[in-house]
Amino acid sequence: MTTASMNPPRATSLDPSDWSQLRAQGHRMLDDMFDHLAGLRDRPVWQPIPETVRGAFREPMPAEPTTVAEAHGRFMRDVLPYSVGNTHPRFMGWVHGGGTAEGMLAEMLAAGLNANLGGRDQMPLEMEKQVVRWMADLFGFPETAGGLFVTGSSMANLVGLLVARTSALGGQSRKTGVENAGGGRLVAYTSQAAHGCIAQAMSIAGLGTDALRLVPTDADHRTDIVQLRAMVWQDMAAGLRPFLIAGTAGTVDVGAVDDLDAIADVARTCGAWFHVDGAYGALGMLSRQVAPRLAGIERADSLALDFHKWGQVPYDAGFILVRDQADQLAAFASPAAYLSRHPRGLAAGSPWPCDLGPDLSRGFRALKTWFTLVTHGTNRLGAAIDNSCDLARHLMARVLAEPELELMAPVALNIVCFRLRAAPSQDADALNTEVVADLHESGIAVPSSTRIRGQVAIRAAIVNHRTVAGDIDMLVDAVLACGRRRQRIQNTTVQPVQEFAA
Ligand SMILES: *Cc1c(COP(=O)(O)O)cnc(C)c1O
Repeated sequence: MTTASMNPPRATSLDPSDWSQLRAQGHRMLDDMFDHLAGLRDRPVWQPIPETVRGAFREPMPAEPTTVAEAHGRFMRDVLPYSVGNTHPRFMGWVHGGGTAEGMLAEMLAAGLNANLGGRDQMPLEMEKQVVRWMADLFGFPETAGGLFVTGSSMANLVGLLVARTSALGGQSRKTGVENAGGGRLVAYTSQAAHGCIAQAMSIAGLGTDALRLVPTDADHRTDIVQLRAMVWQDMAAGLRPFLIAGTAGTVDVGAVDDLDAIADVARTCGAWFHVDGAYGALGMLSRQVAPRLAGIERADSLALDFHKWGQVPYDAGFILVRDQADQLAAFASPAAYLSRHPRGLAAGSPWPCDLGPDLSRGFRALKTWFTLVTHGTNRLGAAIDNSCDLARHLMARVLAEPELELMAPVALNIVCFRLRAAPSQDADALNTEVVADLHESGIAVPSSTRIRGQVAIRAAIVNHRTVAGDIDMLVDAVLACGRRRQRIQNTTVQPVQEFAA
């Protein structure tokens, strides 16, 4: 058989046969998202997903193509209206960023470029390195600092903890395992108000959550330094090895910032690694009113933060900054691989991100972050952070002025925890839990509920750059209206509030 008689290979390129048609569709998609972002305020923050919509996504995997127009139509109809709503100015449920149109556009560029940021000699990596240097400068870290984009602060805290672990046990422990490293059992410290991902990191690292001491908090929900010191000394006297103290800059529940300088002092005296979980609070460094609260952050051995929260970069954009990149290399690099790379060609530019963390293939998270920083500038981003703290104080003032409401925790930054006072015959925890669900279903505003010292509170985390004072007033008015409605018709089933007031 000759080659000529064989079927020629089929073209399998996934590029469109008609670029102009796809281009036109792409413009419509972009227009739809601009319209969506420009019209957020007129939409409900959140709405329940109809069962028909949920059910429509149970069809089998398609063997044959659907047009882009049809796929886009399904996104617009079935997905876009039923997401969490964190782009909306009255989303205050959790510490989620609002994103920006510029960030969205940068994501499109990054996807088109399809760069793999695991390594090699490419400008996208220079961009990531620039963001690393910017962060090192912002937080007063030395020239030796290393940094890495990861998914979020859960991963950033894990990476920080793994670097601290290897620093304590020595590089050999990567081969022998934690069990056989010797030198005493490792113990770590963080406050009772710390994010759950610190405990999770201890578990993943093979050190166990039993080895994480949860230090009680003071009246301001900050790590109690006297107790921290006592716990450290007690463990040392018992022959244990304190290897890590993790402070928090902005706790998820109430936005408390630990006394980072005092924690740094304790860490120094016991020889422990000082890590800061600055997931959302660290970028407060850009804000005039928050920056002074972060004093001591410059002494951290590692710092976890998210650009996707107060930094307003679209999800996901977590980041870990390490005081000395050599510690990061010691924990993650395979020396055989990175030392043998060629100094020229695509193999140049070592060390690479894959030497500094657990990921090999990685997307171009640096681009949307760089775009957000460059197109808005740090002053404007800092002003948005200032604004959310101002709004939190406005909310606090309204809560204090309303006899039906009570403040549940001090307002440190941008999170306000409050609740409706219940009639003596009524269960305040149940009332406030139901009112939060009523608000969600009303679409007017989305706070969340949390427990503050055992009691249910309504929590408003103001993170979105789009939020204005009128949105705070709408939240308070809606809480009062829902509360009065529930108090009036207690013991009867309350229908969800249906109307959405724009
Ligand atoms: C959000 C948050 C985390 C978790 O970060 P992700 O980006 O969601 O993984 C950890 N710690 C604190 C204090 C947070 O606010």
